[in-house]
Amino acid sequence: MWPRPDWPTRLLAWFAREGRELPWRENRSAYTTWVSEVMLQQTRVEAVRPYYAAWLHRFPTPAAVAAADESDILHAWQGLGYYRRAQHLQRAMQEVVARYDGCIPSSREALAALPGVGPYMLGAIRSLAFGAPEPAVDGNVLRVFARLYGIEDDVLQPATRRRVTALAQEVIPHDAPGAFNEALMDLGALICTPRTPHCADCPLQVDCGARRSGRETVLPVRKKKTKQVTERVAVAVIAHAGRYLLHRRSETGMLAKMWEFPAVTGRTHAAALAGLCAARGLTTPHGVYWRHRHVFTHRIWEMRAYRWEMEAALQEDECWYTRDELLTIPLAGPHAKLAATLA
Ligand code: SF4
Repeated sequence: MWPRPDWPTRLLAWFAREGRELPWRENRSAYTTWVSEVMLQQTRVEAVRPYYAAWLHRFPTPAAVAAADESDILHAWQGLGYYRRAQHLQRAMQEVVARYDGCIPSSREALAALPGVGPYMLGAIRSLAFGAPEPAVDGNVLRVFARLYGIEDDVLQPATRRRVTALAQEVIPHDAPGAFNEALMDLGALICTPRTPHCADCPLQVDCGARRSGRETVLPVRKKKTKQVTERVAVAVIAHAGRYLLHRRSETGMLAKMWEFPAVTGRTHAAALAGLCAARGLTTPHGVYWRHRHVFTHRIWEMRAYRWEMEAALQEDECWYTRDELLTIPLAGPHAKLAATLA
């Protein structure tokens, strides 16, 4: 069975030998943890080092951040980017001063209610600064767990993050939660790197599901969200003697081999209709017969159907069908809805 249940012990032993020496790991407090974790979001460790030192020099306490002009805060952040992080940090410290006398609270509820504290920050501050057995799951940790446990689900999905958080919660050592979370961060940064993990140097290589199945460069699965494209589709309902003209889609591609009413896609509805009329020698219709918005995974069809009573020459892959026959052939989804409207 992998990973063996005592894998955190091997990880912690490796961390004791190989863990990184980082300025925010010296003299930790809830405040220094908070500052460093905010800076490290979206920014590399090496880029953060000088900012971290300068920040603590300028704003050594939550009260100093709370009292500063926002322009000074933004100036100190200049070059780190993502300035909302700095604004959230200041707002949070102002609340800490106003509600907790300048001492960052340790309870989940109180921390979670402060600006800029999401699940990762909550776990990081609670485990690193207060020794609470709380996972801190970021992209590094998701990657390590996906490989270690051979998780094939998309790590960008909230359900997968919840699963990894639950697994981490099960194994986090209660006597060293901060070290465990830091060890995972370091393993992800130094060994279990995104493109080419250094499995031969990994303390968990005998435990690792991905390594065992040769899938260490395949996992984690990250399905990119592709933007949906919106297309305007003009559809021709051409009727003659109780029959309708249908076209069969090509053998390959989207909705392959399905039947549909003749249709043309355009950037605008007017362009689509002009294209349809030109393609089939149709006169401009008087009005829209049917409107429909159909959402596919990566595509949206804004459809407008127009109706003509006329005899028309069949083109390739076309056929006349009665309304009853329409119910028996495979119609592309939205075209089935259109067919259902025909009397
Ligand atoms: S064996 Fe390789 S893939 Fe598995 S946790 Fe270690 S570095 Fe990552």
